[in-house]
Amino acid sequence: MSEYYAQSVSREDMRQIAYLVRKKFGYLNHWNLPVDRLLDQMCDAFPELSYEIVPDNEWDDPTAHAVTNITEHTIRIRESIYNRACEGKGRDRMTIAHEIAHYILICVTEVKLYCRGDKKVEIYNDPEWQAKCLAAELLIPYYKLTAFKKKPSVNFIMNICGVSSDAAEYQLRYI
Ligand SMILES: [Zn+2]
Repeated sequence: MSEYYAQSVSREDMRQIAYLVRKKFGYLNHWNLPVDRLLDQMCDAFPELSYEIVPDNEWDDPTAHAVTNITEHTIRIRESIYNRACEGKGRDRMTIAHEIAHYILICVTEVKLYCRGDKKVEIYNDPEWQAKCLAAELLIPYYKLTAFKKKPSVNFIMNICGVSSDAAEYQLRYI
């Protein structure tokens, strides 16, 4: 768990935020959210934000595929991850959505962060859980899935939303 904890944000709040992001950038009717294009649009909408594609041989963080720096307003992404996301690979698309989610939560919706110290923190207050939750809500739009009479299958969600089977299965639990 991170050295910070965040103000509580519920899954219902995340759904609302995901809906508003899709609405703001013109993706309410899209199943498949083009994360590479969304990154460019976000840099236009939030001029202090920039992103950098880092060649794999210069990538210096073995624990991550992409990193968001909320004080510098930068998102750094490993080149191979970015390229695979552009080609539509679900797991890599989720990596980019995860960084977008960190940025939106902390820098746009201004969810407050606190030093954790020894405090025991609920999962809802973990910034990583929050980014994971919002990323999944962004890529797998609740408002579209719940318009069906019957619960969709994992395969359907994988194909139409461009996500991995893990992400589709995980998200179906909350539909
Ligand atoms: Zn993260």
